Amino acid sequence: MCKFARYADFSREAFDMVLAEAGKLAERAFYPTNKLGDVQGCRFENGQVKVPDSFHEPYRLYRDGGWIAMADSPEVGGQGLPVALSTACVEMFGAANWSLTMYSGLTHGAAHLLQRHGAPELQKLYMDNLFSFNWAGTMCLTEPGAGTDVGNLRTKAQRQPDGTFKITGQKIFISSGMHDLTENIVHMVLARIDGAPKGTRGISIFLVPRLRVDESGELVDNDVACAGIEHKMGIHGSATCTLNFGENGGCTGYVMGGENQGMHIMFDMMNEARLFVGIQGLAHASSAYLHALQYSKERIQGSSIENMKDPDAPRTPIILHPDVRRMLMFMKSSSEGLRGLMYLAGYCIDRVRVAETQEERELFEGYVDLLIPVCKSVGSDLGFRVCETAIQVYGGYGYIREYPVEQMMRDCKIASIYEGTNGIQALDLVGRKLAFKQGKLLKDGLKAAGKIISKARQNYRLRDLVQIYDEAQESLVQLTKYFGLKSITGEFEVPVLYAKPCLDLFGDVIMGFILLWQADLADRRLHEIYAEHGAADEGSRSRLLHENRECAFYFGKICSARFFVNHVLTQAAGKVRGIMNNDKSALEIPDEGFALD
Ligand SMILES: Cc1cc2nc3c(=O)[nH]c(=O)nc-3n(C[C@H](O)[C@H](O)[C@H](O)COP(=O)(O)OP(=O)(O)OC[C@H]3O[C@@H](n4cnc5c(N)ncnc54)[C@H](O)[C@@H]3O)c2cc1C
Repeated sequence: MCKFARYADFSREAFDMVLAEAGKLAERAFYPTNKLGDVQGCRFENGQVKVPDSFHEPYRLYRDGGWIAMADSPEVGGQGLPVALSTACVEMFGAANWSLTMYSGLTHGAAHLLQRHGAPELQKLYMDNLFSFNWAGTMCLTEPGAGTDVGNLRTKAQRQPDGTFKITGQKIFISSGMHDLTENIVHMVLARIDGAPKGTRGISIFLVPRLRVDESGELVDNDVACAGIEHKMGIHGSATCTLNFGENGGCTGYVMGGENQGMHIMFDMMNEARLFVGIQGLAHASSAYLHALQYSKERIQGSSIENMKDPDAPRTPIILHPDVRRMLMFMKSSSEGLRGLMYLAGYCIDRVRVAETQEERELFEGYVDLLIPVCKSVGSDLGFRVCETAIQVYGGYGYIREYPVEQMMRDCKIASIYEGTNGIQALDLVGRKLAFKQGKLLKDGLKAAGKIISKARQNYRLRDLVQIYDEAQESLVQLTKYFGLKSITGEFEVPVLYAKPCLDLFGDVIMGFILLWQADLADRRLHEIYAEHGAADEGSRSRLLHENRECAFYFGKICSARFFVNHVLTQAAGKVRGIMNNDKSALEIPDEGFALD
């Protein structure tokens, strides 16, 4: 990144230092509060919400370290670091304690929204306190009758003579909606102005502070009340609230970016929020994998397969059992693939920021648009599967609360639901992103991937893997063409029905690409190390793999790619065949046919 003027003042050493500091904060301050937060949870007392007691200190350290604005420009108090780097930091904070990380993620989203769409007077009053995390922020979309169907919302905004709006209505499931980490909370609320069109076209977005800054600069109550907190399966330390706006007629809102622009603005802000949720899946996956790995080295059970029948054979750590190793490889390759995917999205966002021409900007915006629904959906779904596999590695101990992985699985599940369910991500990918300009985004993406993969293709040791990748990519292309054809012939229901499997396949192909990219680099470096050590034969190389950590690391990277390509990408053709058989059983079955009443 440092070759771009925007990041020229930084260096690799500076980036390494930031990562090391984030790692320390995550490990020493965030992680010890993870379980405490899960056990104590948030409490609703006398209309106020208390976060777990242990969260206050790490919050202060995080706020004082300026972490929230690390990738924002210095004009708003940020440190101007690359988004790719902040992505890595969010992973570490999230892996250590996702519930706590939620407060900062939503606050950053609100601050960024204000920066991009707020009037200068509003920015002056509220923005600094958000970017410094002295105050917190929220996104208030959901209502009882308006979940996925946001256009059905009932919260109202009534125009006032001074240009402000009176807000009335109820929002549910609002993360960080009320809490005692900060003095004030700035809500971004979707509502409909009196007389505005029905549906999503008539939605506006309002800045609604819990405490409003009045004419004299004092903070005054703005009639936002918490009616209770939701009791959830996971993320117990994250306050999920029901909020009532304007119960006493005293809730003032300020329209952002013009009337009826709410959905347009939400779309503009979606990429950040969806990437954040994708990173949640990665964070849980990564943490669950590392815990399971450690456990598998410590837990002694059974004997090696060679001595299976000998009751006197020495007992071994479970990491020596092939089935456990297979689960570990699934977790390792999935976590590394997800990490590559999230960081790649962060990198593409950086390239949008530093683009020198309109053409370059649009190209990278296209990559971001294409990657985001995949990051969000695959990150959360695969993250959950990795957590579930971690429990399997732990056996019965994984299922009980004394061990950490059951919390990770509970905490992870919500990621496939909020910020647009994964079904909706798939419709976004298939209906908007893949369909855009007859598949232009996909073509651009595959072209860029092709250039990178061509290096791996020249590496004869990876040639068989690249061939499987090519076949999987071709299956994906065939599927998108099939969807295009179905749309032209008016059979829209087919792409809609199979949008999610298509997204999953797309995720497989991107992760396969990323793992192969890494494997090629790893393979080249590994052979340099062999040469440096004069390890020319199998025996000396094998010894080196056990003695030299760097060798083991690179060999491990190649194994991740081999495992993923052989066990996931080989299934691509079968998955596509299943879809292209045009099976409509899920549509044709009568409701009664699912089960008789
Ligand atoms: C812990 C937690 C935190 C949350 N935080 C926030 C927050 O901070 N701010 C906020 O505004 N909201 C928040 N939410 C709400 C969350 O975003 C919604 O729950 C989510 O958008 C789904 O809405 P719903 O629950 O009403 O489900 P529904 O919309 O009822 O969906 C139920 C199922 O039907 C499917 N479905 C619905 N409509 C369609 C369609 N048109 N096509 C295909 N499938 C469809 C869905 O994919 C899903 O599988 C939070 C929720 C939870 C549980």
